[in-house]
Amino acid sequence: MTDCIFCKIINGDFNTEFVYENEYAVVFKDINPKADVHLLVVPRVHVESLNDLDDEALLGKLMMTVKETTKKLGIKSYRTVINTGKEAGQEVFHLHIHILSGGIV
Ligand code: AMP
Repeated sequence: MTDCIFCKIINGDFNTEFVYENEYAVVFKDINPKADVHLLVVPRVHVESLNDLDDEALLGKLMMTVKETTKKLGIKSYRTVINTGKEAGQEVFHLHIHILSGGIV
């Protein structure tokens, strides 16, 4: 989607550093971190939210991406969060999984 900030990041428009990436997703640092480590796992395909996801396999791939990322970075203990819908705090309407570790606000 052309007006989606995460699609633009995936597209390389902002030269965002990916701390990890694979066939299904990219992972980058949250611009407004709520923990010592705050990463976002973002699927390469545009899906607005978990409510719009009907690809069960992709959800599994995204969770495996969480595991691969934390393993690569040596993060043993972390929290994962998916905000779904405005009232729950979703600000960017491109599905993503937050990884938070250490000093979580
Ligand atoms: P959510 O509230 O679950 O939709 O999370 C969206 C997250 O994206 C927030 O934690 C923002 O700080 C983060 N964010 C927004 N724009 C950017 C960006 N350009 N680069 C990195 N993170 C971003």
